[in-house]
Amino acid sequence: MINIGRNPFAASFATAIDSAATWNKLKDGGAMKIDGGCYCGRVTYTAEVDPHTVTICHCSECQTLSGSAFRTLAFADERTFALSGAPKSYIKTTESGGRRELYFCGECGTPICSSAVSDGPKAYSIRVGTIRQRADLPPLQQIWFRSAQAWVTELAALPTFQKDASSNFGEKAD
Ligand SMILES: [Zn+2]
Ligand SMILES: [Zn+2]
Repeated sequence: MINIGRNPFAASFATAIDSAATWNKLKDGGAMKIDGGCYCGRVTYTAEVDPHTVTICHCSECQTLSGSAFRTLAFADERTFALSGAPKSYIKTTESGGRRELYFCGECGTPICSSAVSDGPKAYSIRVGTIRQRADLPPLQQIWFRSAQAWVTELAALPTFQKDASSNFGEKAD
């Protein structure tokens, strides 16, 4: 499992975590069994993730590849990660010259995970939006913040609607 260290600010996130069970897992640094899959259900997986690894990535590649403002990730050791449904993959070269294989559903296009292209033991970076238990996996850090969209820190100030209100603009949201 990738060890990105304990987040020194984790204690201040306690109030954001509404489940005592989740908080106990965070405190203990224990692995959490998860499962998930793509939108159409063709690709599924099971894994164990360390809730301490849940990270928001604001890099420009994550913005493009997710089609959103940022991506949320959790890491799983390959020994605990079982993927089924034959996802498609795409290999990208990172800024540092490393190569990463990105897995996605060839049918509905949902991004599932990525891993380094190498012979060594792999860690899989799972896209948290595909994890069924994602409500229990709050992010504990934000990386590549230098390329974050300027408005991400202002979301709490926006008007909110409990259901779709995109018709305010004459469009359907999804
Ligand atoms: Zn799918
Ligand atoms: Zn990124």
